[in-house]
Amino acid sequence: MSITAVKAAEKIEELIAYANDNLYLKTEDNILIRNGLLAALDLKEPSSASVSKYGDLQSDILNPLLDYAEESGLIGGTETERILHETRIMGILAPLPSFITERFDQIALKEGVAKATDFLNDYSVKSNYIRSADIEKNLQWETAGKFGKIIVTINCGKPEKDPKDIERAKNTPRGAYPKCPLCKDNVGFSGDFGRAARQTLRTVPILLNNENWQLQFSPYVYYQKHCIALSDEHKPMKVDRSAFIKMFDFVDLFRHFFIGSNAALPIVGGSILAHDHFQGGDKVLPMFDADDRRTFKNVKFRTVSLSVVDWYNSVIRLKSKSREDLINHADHILCKWSGYRDENSEIIPYTGETPHNAVTPVARLEDDGTYILDMILRNNRTNGDFPFGIFHPPAELHNIKKEGIGIIEVMGLFILPGRLYGESHEIAAYLSGEKPLIIEDLFRETHPLHKHAHALLQLANDNGLNMERVAAERAVTEYINSVCEKILECTAVFKNTERGQAAFDKFIETVI
Ligand SMILES: [Zn+2]
Repeated sequence: MSITAVKAAEKIEELIAYANDNLYLKTEDNILIRNGLLAALDLKEPSSASVSKYGDLQSDILNPLLDYAEESGLIGGTETERILHETRIMGILAPLPSFITERFDQIALKEGVAKATDFLNDYSVKSNYIRSADIEKNLQWETAGKFGKIIVTINCGKPEKDPKDIERAKNTPRGAYPKCPLCKDNVGFSGDFGRAARQTLRTVPILLNNENWQLQFSPYVYYQKHCIALSDEHKPMKVDRSAFIKMFDFVDLFRHFFIGSNAALPIVGGSILAHDHFQGGDKVLPMFDADDRRTFKNVKFRTVSLSVVDWYNSVIRLKSKSREDLINHADHILCKWSGYRDENSEIIPYTGETPHNAVTPVARLEDDGTYILDMILRNNRTNGDFPFGIFHPPAELHNIKKEGIGIIEVMGLFILPGRLYGESHEIAAYLSGEKPLIIEDLFRETHPLHKHAHALLQLANDNGLNMERVAAERAVTEYINSVCEKILECTAVFKNTERGQAAFDKFIETVI
C-alpha cells in the first residue's frame, strides 16, 4: 500500500491515541512521544488533523507505518526488518519497567496476584510484545489419543526466515551482549537480524528460594498465559533440590499457575540450557487431566501419596499438603533416578562422566492446599541403532518434528513447524488425485515433499489416490495425530507394556 508522509503523520496521531487508551500514556506526555515517533519514521512535521479514533493496532496503524518506512527507504522489505522497526516504534510508547512493576505490585496487593498477572499479560498483548496477529494464524486442534487428549499446534505465526535475513544474520557481528535471549538485559534490547527486538519486553521481579528472578510472558503463547520465570543471573539450568524449592515458591506466589522445568540435558531438554528458567501458565496442559494408573503405599514419606500417571510417558505424581515432605521425596527420587540402571529397559545413567538420566518436574498447588509434583523421567542416551536418542523420535518421524521434545510436548501439547501447513495440503492434493504422484520424483531431494515420501506412500497405500479432498485432508491430520502419539511414547523410559510397567514398579520400590 502506498502511503504519503501526511497519512503517516496521521497514523502517528492514531498510535498516540491508542497509547493514551491502552498503554498508560498520559496526554501531558504526548508531545515528547510524538517527537520520538516522528524521528523514528523520519517525518518532518506532525499531522495537523485532529485524530482521536483508531482501528486495529497491527493492520490499521502499524502496517501502514511500516509500509511508509519501507517506501521512503528507511527500512528494507524483509519481515525481520519490519518487525525490528515495529518494535522500535512500540518501544517508544511502552511504559518504563518501574511503572509496570509498581502497578503489578499495587494490583497484587489490592486485587490479588491473578489480577496482577492478568495486567502483565494484557500489557504484553497491547504493547504488541505478544504479536496477536501472528498468534491467531496458528492452527490448533485436539485429538483423543490412547492415554488422553493431545493438542496439536501448527506454528504458522512464526514465519520461516527469509533467506536474505538468514544471510544477514550470519554476517552481522554479534557481540556478547546480552549473553542469551533469556537474560534480563533483553528488556529494551533493540535486536538485530539474528536476535529478537525486545523494546516492549517488561518483566516483574520475584523472589524464588531467596534468589532474584523475573516473571515475563512468552511472546509465542504456546498455551494460555504461557509465562517464563528466569534467573537474574545467567547460569545454566539445573534440576536439583533448590529447583524444587523455587518451583514451590513460585506456586505459593501464583497458585493459579503451574510451573515446570525442562530437563537440564540436551535432546530431552528445551532449546536454552545456558540460562536457568522455568515455564508456567494456566493449568491447561493435557497431562494434568490424566488420572492415576497405579498408587503405591509410601513408607519412607508417609504424608506424600505417590502414583504412576496413566499417560504416554513415565510420570510419577507426588501429592502432599506438606511442601517440605514433598520436596524431600522429590529430591530422593531425583537422586535415585540420576544413578538408576536397568539395562533390560535400555536405561544406563552414565557414559563415562556424562549423565543421561534426567527429570522434567512440573508443580501445581490446588485450592485445598495440596501440592502436586509430576516428575517425568527422561533419558537422553544415544546408540548406533538410535543416533537421535533411544527415548527420542527416530528419523522416520522427523518429517513431523525433529527438534528436542521438551516440557510442553511431553505434557501433550505439540508445537509443529509452520511448513507443515502447506505440506499437509500438498499431501492431500496427491491423495485426492489432484496432483499425479510420480514415485521416482518423490524420492528426489529437490521434491518439495521429499521428507514426507515414506509417509505419503503409506497413506497412498492405505487410502488409494482417488480420495475425496475432505477425506484426504482428514487422513493427513490423522496421520499427524498418530505421529504425535508415537513421539510421546518414544519419550517413555518405561514403555506402556506389561514388562515396561513392571520395570517402572521396580524403580518405584527403590524410592518409597
Ligand atoms: Zn542468559
